[in-house]
Amino acid sequence: MKVRIDTDRCTGDRICEEACPDIFKVNDKSDIAELIKNNYSKEDEKCIEEAVKNCPSEAIIIE
Ligand code: SF4
Repeated sequence: MKVRIDTDRCTGDRICEEACPDIFKVNDKSDIAELIKNNYSKEDEKCIEEAVKNCPSEAIIIE
């Protein structure tokens, strides 16, 4: 799985970080989510899929 954050859409609300703290981290300076991991277990993939559904800005893109 390849994931990216659409930085133009992200509003920094931290929903993804709260759901998957090992995968997403909102940068304190830019207020934009970043990926802190790029190899994903099955469990990570489930968490990412949930985060995609719950991101209000549709800023998490699975490629
Ligand atoms: S849930 Fe979406 S909008 Fe919110 S911080 Fe994460 S990527 Fe950005």
